[in-house]
Amino acid sequence: MPKRATSVWISIDMEGIGGIAAYSQVMMQGIEYERARQWMTHEANACIDGAANGGARRFCVNDSHGAMHNIFADDLDPRAELVVGTAKPWSMGQGIDGGYDTCFFVGYHGRAGHPKAVLDHTYASRAIFECRLNGKPVGETTLNAYLAGHFGATVSLVSGDDATCREARALVSNVVTVKTKDATGRFSAKMLHPSRVQEALREGATRAVEAATRSKPLVPKGSNEIELVFLTSAMADMAELIPTTRRSGPRAVSYASRDYLELYKAMLAMVRIAPAAVPPEQT
Ligand SMILES: [Zn+2]
Repeated sequence: MPKRATSVWISIDMEGIGGIAAYSQVMMQGIEYERARQWMTHEANACIDGAANGGARRFCVNDSHGAMHNIFADDLDPRAELVVGTAKPWSMGQGIDGGYDTCFFVGYHGRAGHPKAVLDHTYASRAIFECRLNGKPVGETTLNAYLAGHFGATVSLVSGDDATCREARALVSNVVTVKTKDATGRFSAKMLHPSRVQEALREGATRAVEAATRSKPLVPKGSNEIELVFLTSAMADMAELIPTTRRSGPRAVSYASRDYLELYKAMLAMVRIAPAAVPPEQT
């Protein structure tokens, strides 16, 4: 391993950004969405700046929320490349295969069904009731950390509410977590001031690129099984159309593979095909 991580891939979501606790902030048509985009862009910049202070030289930011056109491109630190776009094939994981030393997951949120996490969901609130990896309920932090490990990259920084930070620490040793808020419910939280969050990210990113050298990638081992429990049986009917899936429950479909990338792709395919069960007039 190099003395420090010199290339950083950043997946940045929105629900865990400092100041955010409402749909009106994370939905494109929401009244506070434009302000929330600014906070998100500032948090990306704080991470890039902090990582650069720690010696990193190559940066990629994957806009990982909603339609994935949230970051203000003009305002992003010009040292970073920006990955954007709706229906990117690998979604929140797009670009993770680019040979980066380490990954930051910024603005992340708790898993679908977490009892106390801001705007909890896993990939699609309109389709997924719960996502399980080898029988255990997991969120996007876990799913994407194993994808990073599949490509030999560590996860060295995770930010979001307290629930997100706990999920990260339970999974990845030496990970730097930056808490942006304490969840008091799905739509409520005790916030740190956005400027304090950005400062903590800058400082945390510097530590993370150094700590990354003491970490090991979370390499998925053996055969793994992902199970998606959908909101309705009709959604499971659609997901079950994907070859080699298994109908594991009235509303649930599972997919097993020794290849984690294949598993991840199957998960994305199921998430994307499930809404086809809902008549367009009801979406
Ligand atoms: Zn999101």
